[in-house]
Amino acid sequence: MRALRLQPSSAMAIYAHPDDADVAAGGLLALWASEGCAVHLVVVCDGAKGSHVPRADSTLLRDARREEQQFAADLLGAATVIGLDRPDGGVVNDEELRALLVGLVRLYRPEVVLGPDPTATFFGGVYVNHRDHRETGWALLDAVAPAAAMPLYFPEQGEPHQVRHLLLSGTHEPDVVADVSRTIDTKVKAVLAHTSQLAGDAEAIREVVYERAEQAGRPVGVAFGEAFRSVELAF
Ligand SMILES: [Zn+2]
Repeated sequence: MRALRLQPSSAMAIYAHPDDADVAAGGLLALWASEGCAVHLVVVCDGAKGSHVPRADSTLLRDARREEQQFAADLLGAATVIGLDRPDGGVVNDEELRALLVGLVRLYRPEVVLGPDPTATFFGGVYVNHRDHRETGWALLDAVAPAAAMPLYFPEQGEPHQVRHLLLSGTHEPDVVADVSRTIDTKVKAVLAHTSQLAGDAEAIREVVYERAEQAGRPVGVAFGEAFRSVELAF
């Protein structure tokens, strides 16, 4: 494990659901944004099934989650929030999604792309990674390596762009930890902005976010961290 030392001028976080980026990388995105990095957030799903409440209204939920996402992104200092409005549970790593992602990568030209590690399926015998996370992860990998960088892939989607670094969260093979001690409070606020997802227990979630960040920071000796699997793309 090593400390992450990157200070990009542009980054794109591609996640499935409206709260995923905040939970996975909110501290790092807030840190980079505070240093002048243009942070672009791509949310693939509409969030309309993210509820355990019986007979929840999916349209109201979708609209509420869109507002929560924008509020959280503003807290982090994100420059752009782009929703692709795929139905929750329905992400497919198909040609259409890859074309959209390639188009966004070529338009915003990020140095770093962040997103879910699609190879992680089971966590600690208590959690199965959501299929939207896995499909989004595969789609972003396919879009970045190599499609966005090669002109004969999706030629209608703009000028080729080579992403330099990938940082994958929700991974079983983390190798870098970002020091987010300076922005952990902002991350917590961003996570708590997703009030529809808190099940009325904001205090418990606040504690979990601090506790996980403490655990993630320990291997590299920082108070609060976020861990990622890193890929440096050679070209
Ligand atoms: Zn999610």
